[in-house]
Amino acid sequence: MEPSSSSSSSSSGVLFIHQVPQGRQEPLESDCISPDVALPEWQPTYISPDADVVLLSSDGQKFRVHSSIMVLASGFFKGMLGLPQSRSQHNVEQTSPNAAEDETIALQERSGVLKAILDIVYPDRTFFDSGDPTFDLFREICFAAEKYDMPSVLQSLQLFLRATIRDHPPILAYALACRYSWTKEAELASTETLSHNIRTQDSMDQLKHASMEGAMQLIRFHFTRCDLLIAALDFTDTRHTRAPLVIEWPAIQSSRCKCVKPRSHLDMSLWTVLKYHILEKMEKSPDGAFLRNREFWDHSEFNRLWDFVCDCSRTPMLDKNNLREEILRVLENLPKTI
Ligand SMILES: [Zn+2]
Repeated sequence: MEPSSSSSSSSSGVLFIHQVPQGRQEPLESDCISPDVALPEWQPTYISPDADVVLLSSDGQKFRVHSSIMVLASGFFKGMLGLPQSRSQHNVEQTSPNAAEDETIALQERSGVLKAILDIVYPDRTFFDSGDPTFDLFREICFAAEKYDMPSVLQSLQLFLRATIRDHPPILAYALACRYSWTKEAELASTETLSHNIRTQDSMDQLKHASMEGAMQLIRFHFTRCDLLIAALDFTDTRHTRAPLVIEWPAIQSSRCKCVKPRSHLDMSLWTVLKYHILEKMEKSPDGAFLRNREFWDHSEFNRLWDFVCDCSRTPMLDKNNLREEILRVLENLPKTI
């Protein structure tokens, strides 16, 4: 066969390659992600003349690929292309009169997904160099790798997710990791979710992508962090299970206060105001980052607590800085992953 190349410009000035070039042309820059940009008929980086199969994306772009590579990478393509008889049975169409040996296989994935999959599969390409995919695109790539039975591609995607875990919407990344039982990635993503309020409708909608078990695990993780911090603020002694999660009175009393039973002296309604504010913010942001912010501690509603004078010393009972440090210590000892 003698593939010839011809091209024309559309009204938007985008170059379309109508047939497979001989490989002399420079690859075209194309944006395979944005649906607004007209796609070249052929994906410029997959036009090798010695390839023998044509994949057609859902948005109409063709990829000339090597069946030998596809068979090695994919259980699906192994079944379709691996045996000569299965190839002849497969319902294919000729791409052009000049390409008698070529088969066109129409797939349901858009071109950006196919290109990413092929970039992972082909030994002389790399997915990691082809730019940062949006999370939607990344998820579609995972689904395609799953659908076409490409375990090594999924493994590469798992490593990519791990390396870029902070770049994705954390709850969606968590849900995806759960889907594929990527334990480490689910743990890493769960930590990232702590800056989000799991109670919002938006969060719940995102969690629907996770398994029921995975969703429950993440919700429990968020609630547990809140519950443990509140238990510490209630001076509930959970010593038998989590020794560090107790606020120690000597650590928060001012140096002058020698009250033996400070809790019986302190006006606990003042303490409750502090606890309420912490709980309110902790529910929205269970990473507790606000506790590191001095502005939080300077809230005027806490002034009466800082000013509270105990009987023994006739001076303020609590040390504001020490209390902050003590609560941050408890925060640091809360569970950090699911
Ligand atoms: Zn005292």
